[in-house]
Amino acid sequence: MKNIQSIRGMHDILPEHSPLWRWLEQQVSSTFAAYDFHEIRVPVLEKTEVFTRAIGQATDVVEKEMYTFEDRNGDSLSLRPEGTAGVVRSAIQHGLLHTPGLKVWYQGPMFRHERPQKGRQRQFHQFGAEVFGMDAAAADVELIALGERIWRRLGLERGIRLEINTLGDREDRQRYRQRLVDYLLPVRDELDEDSQRRLDTNPLRIFDSKHDRTREIMANAPRLIDEIGPEAREHFEEVCDMLDRLGIDYSVNPGLVRGLDYYCRTVFEWITDDLGAQGTVCAGGRYNDLVEMQGGKPTPGIGFAMGIERLLALLEAASVEKSQFPHVFVVTRVPPAEMLTVAERLREEVPGLRVAAAVGGGSMKAQFKRADRSGARYCVILGEAEYQTGQAAIKDLRTERGEQEMVNLDALGSRLQALIAGEGAD
Ligand code: ATP
Ligand code: MG
Repeated sequence: MKNIQSIRGMHDILPEHSPLWRWLEQQVSSTFAAYDFHEIRVPVLEKTEVFTRAIGQATDVVEKEMYTFEDRNGDSLSLRPEGTAGVVRSAIQHGLLHTPGLKVWYQGPMFRHERPQKGRQRQFHQFGAEVFGMDAAAADVELIALGERIWRRLGLERGIRLEINTLGDREDRQRYRQRLVDYLLPVRDELDEDSQRRLDTNPLRIFDSKHDRTREIMANAPRLIDEIGPEAREHFEEVCDMLDRLGIDYSVNPGLVRGLDYYCRTVFEWITDDLGAQGTVCAGGRYNDLVEMQGGKPTPGIGFAMGIERLLALLEAASVEKSQFPHVFVVTRVPPAEMLTVAERLREEVPGLRVAAAVGGGSMKAQFKRADRSGARYCVILGEAEYQTGQAAIKDLRTERGEQEMVNLDALGSRLQALIAGEGAD
């Protein structure tokens, strides 16, 4: 029979890769904590309306990328293509927005039916952060500073740059949209097909076109940033000024429009040139109308989402190695129950100690081979005679002719702990 394969664009995260994932998750979650963000976990499946209302009908995500189906009751459900809409749904549902200044973060899989390629999967993972109830520019800047701190924690700060823009307020965008359409209508035929369609549905997104002639035309288009009202302008100037004061480098890109409908005012992207075409590792912005669109009381919000696979690709390129080998491998000539007892005792006595044991049995030679292959630093040998007298041997597997040291079983845990602390092994 033919083997069953995973769905195209949906990948397994194999044991050899999960240590790097875990390490990344630890770095990012502790950075969120340093900014007083709290984790929220929402379902991966929601009523389709949660996304169509928030993200907007005329967006790539809703038009072509969502995994939508009817469940057995005939309700239309969708796998989440992004995190914000569900977090907003949850925050409204549970009254979390009554106290202003809610700061949450999330992580997990997102699903989009797009063409799989480098840096683009159908199941991918994001970290995201959302701040509610604060419309001050300082909230925008704190969120950007948080992003920058994550890059620094990961050692990636040199390869990632910041682009920002402002989309103004809703009325600004409506006015501008008309100006843009007026500018583009006479040259409609020269635009690529997608952009011609967007001219009717979502003209701002034409800025995202990769088509040469379209790009030329857009380079001379009227700019949204020149159209925005005094309040949104002042907000943007404050953001830029504070970024300067914090020493965070950025460039203003008036063509940065973001793919989702709910954004207003500040939008930003963190971009790398080290990953080819799919170079945006983190993207975000303000969404002051979103909570109201989802049925809540008007509440400003701002957030970002970062693509975990793209970050991992950068970390791999920078060859950050975070393998997690066992500290100790127990080989034995005594009955398996005795071996398990010793292993359990080690785990009990030394929290955090990673213990592997030769549960598969076999000859001493086979067990040593497995110990070597496990990557463990130390081997604990339970020989028959020694075990009878309450002793075991510790062998260093990484020295040429590994010295053996006899230790009382009572002292085994503390001796291993001392050895590992001495090595500075984590
Ligand atoms: P793009 O222009 O690359 O399609 P987007 O605007 O659709 O990006 P967002 O919805 O802003 O992306 O998602 C935030 C981040 O999530 C992206 O910057 C990227 O790092 C990551 N991301 C988005 N889609 C995918 C995908 N299909 N595969 C892997 N990562 C993705
Ligand atoms: Mg996309």
